[in-house]
This record gives sequence, C-alpha cells and structure tokens, in this order.
Amino acid sequence: MRIVHVAAELAPIAKVGGLADVLLGLSRALSEKKHDVEIILPKYDCLDLKAIENLQVAVHDLPTFFAGKSHHNTIWQGRVGGIKTTFIESHDLNNFFARKTIYGAPDDPARFSYFCRAALEYLLKCRQKIDILHLHDWHTAMVALLYQDLYQPQGLKCSKVMFTIHNLAYEGVCKREILTQAGLSTRRFELIKDENQPRSINLLKCGIVCADTITTVSPNYAKEILDPKENGFLNKVVTRWKKKFIGVLNGIDYTYWNPENDPHLPFHYSANNVSQALKIKKKLKAHLRQTLSLADEECPIVCAITRLVPQKGPELIKQAIFRTLEKGGQFVLLGSALDPKTHEEFYKLKRKLAGSDHVHLELTYNEPLSHLVYAASDLFLVPSIFEPCGLTPMVAMRYGTIPLVRKTGGLIDIIRDEENGFAFGPPTTEGIYSALDRALGCWFNHPQKWKRIVETGMQQDWSWNQPAEEYLKIYHENSVAVTEFS
Ligand code: ADP
Repeated sequence: MRIVHVAAELAPIAKVGGLADVLLGLSRALSEKKHDVEIILPKYDCLDLKAIENLQVAVHDLPTFFAGKSHHNTIWQGRVGGIKTTFIESHDLNNFFARKTIYGAPDDPARFSYFCRAALEYLLKCRQKIDILHLHDWHTAMVALLYQDLYQPQGLKCSKVMFTIHNLAYEGVCKREILTQAGLSTRRFELIKDENQPRSINLLKCGIVCADTITTVSPNYAKEILDPKENGFLNKVVTRWKKKFIGVLNGIDYTYWNPENDPHLPFHYSANNVSQALKIKKKLKAHLRQTLSLADEECPIVCAITRLVPQKGPELIKQAIFRTLEKGGQFVLLGSALDPKTHEEFYKLKRKLAGSDHVHLELTYNEPLSHLVYAASDLFLVPSIFEPCGLTPMVAMRYGTIPLVRKTGGLIDIIRDEENGFAFGPPTTEGIYSALDRALGCWFNHPQKWKRIVETGMQQDWSWNQPAEEYLKIYHENSVAVTEFS
C-alpha cells in the first residue's frame, strides 16, 4: 500500500508532544510491514536538521495558490528514522514556516491551510496513486476537503482519506476567510461552520465531516467523545458521524524508546531480567541525582514529564510535589509551559522550593533529559483531567517506572490499578493523595509487590506492532460513511 501522512509534527525533528511520536512510530511499523510510507511536513526553520538523513531538494519550484496569489515553494526530501519525509519550504511573504516555533502564531490557521494546499500540489505533481491519505488533527484536516473539491477533479487519485484525532480539544477555529484563501468555495462555509462562533469555521469539524474514516488514539477516548452526555457542539458533530469513528490505542516506537541501548542513558538494562534492571535503575538514579543536585538518599523518585497545560492537571502536579516531600520522597518535574503565565507560576514554585535538595523543577522541553528521567525514576505521574491516549505511561513502563494515573480517556485502556500501575478517579486533592500514599507505601514497605508491578508493565507489549495491524485492517476496509455532503 502507498500510505501518505500529512502532519504538523514528527519525532525527533519537530516535536511538541505525542503527535510527533505517533507519526514516527506508526510510520516505522507500517514500513516494517513492507508498506510504502511517506510523511509530508512543513520545513520549519526550527527543524532539528541533524536527525534528517540525505536531505536534498526534490523540486526547485512548486507554485501554490493561496490568498489570491501564487507562491513559490521548494520541496525537500530526506529520511527520518528511515522513513521518506518530504518537506515543504514556503517562500511566501508571511514566512509561514520561519517562526522559530511549530505552533503558537496568531496566523496558525493560515499557516497550516497553506501547508495543506502545498502538500496536495506536491502530491498532484507526483502523479502516483495513493492508497491512504492519512491526516492528523486540525492542522491538516483541510486536506480532506481540498482533495474532494480541487485535487480529485484535477486527477489526484486516492482510495481513502483517514483522519486521526489526537486531541479533540484543539479545534482550529478561525475566521471564515481561510476557506476562500485556500481556494475553496464560500458555499462550503455551512459544511464546516463553527456553531459557537457562527462567523468562523472549525477545521477539526472539516476533518470529521470530510474524511472517510476517523480514528481516535484510544478506544476509551472514542467512547468518551461519543457519549451523548457530553455537551458542546463538537459532540453533536461527532455523534452525527459516529459510524466513521474507531478507537485504536497508540503504541510507542520500540527502537526510539529502548532501555537496552538508549543513547541518552549511561547504563542499560532489559525487561528480560527485571532484578538486574532494578539494580541498573539504582545506578541511573544516582546519576540523575548527581545531574540535578538532589540528595543521595534511599528514597523513591516521583517524576512527571509533560506539557504544562490545564489538560495535564498542573494543580494536581503541584499538590503531588508537596505530598511526595511530606512522605519522604523526591520529585522531578520536566515540564514545558506553552504560555508565559503558567511558566511564571511554576517558576515561582521553583524559587519557593529552591532550598530543598529533594525536588527539581526543570521548566523546559528537553528530550535527552526526558530519557534519563523516565529511566531513573520510580513513579511516573500522569494526573490528567482528560487524556486522549497518554504515551508517557507506556514509555515509563518500558523503562521500569510505575505510572500513577488518573482514570480518564486512554489511561483507562492502559493502566490496571495495582497490576501495572496505580490509578485514581476524581481529580481532587484526596484522589491524588490516596493513590500517591498507596504507591509510596508500596515502595517503602512492599518491595516484592513493587517489583511485580514493574515486571508486569515492562513485559507488556506497548510497541506499534499490534496497533499498526489494526490500522492496516482499517485502511483495507471499505469506508463506512459515504460523502453525503458533496
Ligand atoms: P501530549 O501529546 O498530550 O503532550 P503524550 O503523553 O501523548 O501527551 O506525549 C507527550 C510526549 O512529549 C512524550 O514523548 C513525552 O516524553 C514528551 N514530552 C512532554 N513534555 C516534555 C518535556 N518537557 N521535555 C521532553 N519531552 C517532553
């Protein structure tokens, strides 16, 4: 099968969160199963070029129409993690992909709509039939409508358009002019209109309405967003198209996340010998303590590695920091705040805790450090308010670190309380305290039980192998929904 992913992120060269991991992991798993996979990405000026092999110009000048004008693009190609990756470098006057950041610009909807058109322009030029055109989140959802209205009529052939919702909370609501700037007809406005802001369009809705099949990143998240008790206009849209929805639990890339040879770790270990793994983890713990100037003491390290956004339960993380210290543990937070207010709030906390050698708050995005924190910690905290999948607890388990999660979304699919982790229900102080107390109590008083939980998590298969099979099954199935809207 020829499978083309169009996306805004790809690990490790353009990563903000789990979307990047999914693109790398799923593509590699499909490619290992002998499918022809290509990823199309903007050529951001902040790409980590070191991780791209053989990067070279494929098309010197590809014109794209946007906002009433033709713009020049250079198309680059290279390999990321062995996967053919095509980059669109735009020479538009707004410097759409030269913002030193992947997201966060006020004109993000225009930037990504431009990218959608340019990606299709490139695919049209390739003149190769596509079996699956796989789109991810609102950034690339417009491809589905552009394909229908503008590119299929020009001869671009694609058997199925798939849309994966990695997070329903990011909708891509924007002014209606984006539609016409991308070259679509104003008669499409009604189709993708945002009902809360009736003069705006909703790009996530565009993906839901126009794609043939939709996946969400875990079965339980699919169930949650289809629950009629959920309010909000998108719930109505999701319910209207519910036959298109399937939940597939994400995996993690077992080559990228591998404690047996992780280049960011000074010592390595394997799930085949958990006693040995726990001994090595002690050495890694000492190394982490030295790196972060934490006291060298016989006590558990609790950690969280996360974007600091309301979804991830930042208040619960703060409460967990203090509770862990009270109970005699140490806490490491590697957290990236996307807005200055949250950054300042956590920076204040960091200053307040500066005198303690039992806590370290690293308020940045740091991929190499994240690998060491996963490996050297004992307990990994994911107190999300909602969570479409949650890749971090899977990575933690692979590294022999026990997750402590809130029972929501994909975390319900992943964690079974006291079997491969600890879980709590209500997002309250009592909720997180009770789970944290149980987990720390287990570390201090029941080492055999602790080891059993580590072993269960480490030996479960969290790889992309099974999820990729499920995706292939979906790719092969006939589309459930007909494009009633055209
Ligand atoms: P989301 O996609 O909602 O951010 P996931 O749990 O699915 O959450 O994936 C998060 C990914 O981003 C993981 O690979 C995690 O290790 C990584 N990550 C999150 N925050 C940081 C950070 N501050 N530094 C390094 N890696 C991070």
